[in-house]
Amino acid sequence: MSAISNITSALSSLRCHLYRFVCTAAVVLTALLTCGCEKNDAQVPTYVVAMEATFPPYEFYRGNEIVGIDVDILNEIGRRKGVKFKLEDMAFDSIITAVQTGKVDLVVSGLTVTEDRKRMVDFTRPYSGARQVIIVPKGAPEYKPEDLRKIRVGVQHGSSGDAYVTENICEPERFTNGALAVSAMNAGKLDAVVLDNAPAENHVAGSPNLTILPNALAEEEYAMALRKGNTQLLNMLNAALMELEADGTLKAIIDRHMRDNKPEETAVADSMMGRLVDDFKTDFIKNNRWKYLIDGFIVTIEIAAAAAIMGIALGFLIAVVRSTADLTGRLRVLDWFCRLYLTVVRGTPIVVQLLIIYFVIFGAFDISKVLVAIVAFGLNSAAYVAEIIRSGIMSVDRGQMEAGRSLGLSYGCTMRSVILPQAFKNVLPALGNEFIVLLKETSICGYIALQDLTKGGDIIRSQTYDAFLPLFAVALIYLSLVMLLSHLLKKLELRLKKNER
Ligand code: GLN
Repeated sequence: MSAISNITSALSSLRCHLYRFVCTAAVVLTALLTCGCEKNDAQVPTYVVAMEATFPPYEFYRGNEIVGIDVDILNEIGRRKGVKFKLEDMAFDSIITAVQTGKVDLVVSGLTVTEDRKRMVDFTRPYSGARQVIIVPKGAPEYKPEDLRKIRVGVQHGSSGDAYVTENICEPERFTNGALAVSAMNAGKLDAVVLDNAPAENHVAGSPNLTILPNALAEEEYAMALRKGNTQLLNMLNAALMELEADGTLKAIIDRHMRDNKPEETAVADSMMGRLVDDFKTDFIKNNRWKYLIDGFIVTIEIAAAAAIMGIALGFLIAVVRSTADLTGRLRVLDWFCRLYLTVVRGTPIVVQLLIIYFVIFGAFDISKVLVAIVAFGLNSAAYVAEIIRSGIMSVDRGQMEAGRSLGLSYGCTMRSVILPQAFKNVLPALGNEFIVLLKETSICGYIALQDLTKGGDIIRSQTYDAFLPLFAVALIYLSLVMLLSHLLKKLELRLKKNER
């Protein structure tokens, strides 16, 4: 009887912990939900603008702020028309989808007008001209377009340069942005990069061993893109752009940025150690770039912790339904839904789930992306947690259930007081492993333009063209987090073992 009373008291404490756990999760989620809602200044219409902010001089980061030609044009339009624009930095290959699905109101991102895109979105009048140029290492031959077939060519995924090369020349290597393609060329992984002339000039100014070939591949025009049929906004933007063009403001903005179109100077040291110190200063100290890592770190922790809580709560429920069905034959319909859920979640890649949840399920809602990520990772993790806990339940000797029942405890009570505490202890290492996987999986958040730890490192790389230190720093932070988590889990395991005695 004393064993039973021990178990009962352990269980009531577990129940108490669980209750606190669920309450905390609810509070965190509610807080996130409310902070996700847009706070519009009274009555000022605010439009959400998608851009990929590694495209100097049109849009790029200075410190934590996005600046550039497109930003200045938007500010000027906002000032004249009494509207506001909220900027969203996004992966370039997602921005057309974002405007089509209504996630954002417009795209202003040095976006080239193309026939293919015209079928998907409406364009304003063009506000700037551009060319696709070829960047090569200094001393490389003057490649003609057809020569590109024989060499390794890099482009930005989803860009007009990508479309041009793919349709007319060869299959290129695709990078998330032009700056990353340029750092791949700096590292000797590419022979040429095809890119828009203005960012190309900026990248070349920052890499003394690169040059731009004189002949352009294609002439283009940039315009803003809107969802088809959004005539009111289209007319307002066209009228504003016409005004800016007529009074010379547009030209003045573009000329000013083109004049300053180069990354800040950095001294180049001779020795290996000296260069490492210089790189360290440029990557982390200059312009407070370390802040990208700290901010990203906070986002990563926020998402991983809240998703883990959601994963445990939901996974726990699914596991109980599934094992009740297995053990007693009850809850058949619920069990069927749970199995369907597990099959779908475990059968599709998490990045696809994240994109579906962001663009399709929450497509029409303006909620915080952090919340979207928490829901996506929480739902995904729940599937794995459910199977881990179920295997724990099934591993508890059947006799335990029979013993509980023969003592007069109900099925639910035996489950809660006898089976689950043992199951939990058995699966703790596997659960710990799931949290570690979850933490690292959040590194794909950049797909929905969340600035997590990995994306923080990407932004630094795109500004400094140094791949080594930012990647190394990001890896080190993840590793420390995982080591800390493993240590805490080991402690918890030991404590549970001690309680057993
Ligand atoms: N102008 C190119 C395009 O529209 C690239 C734009 C960008 O990378 N922001 O595809």
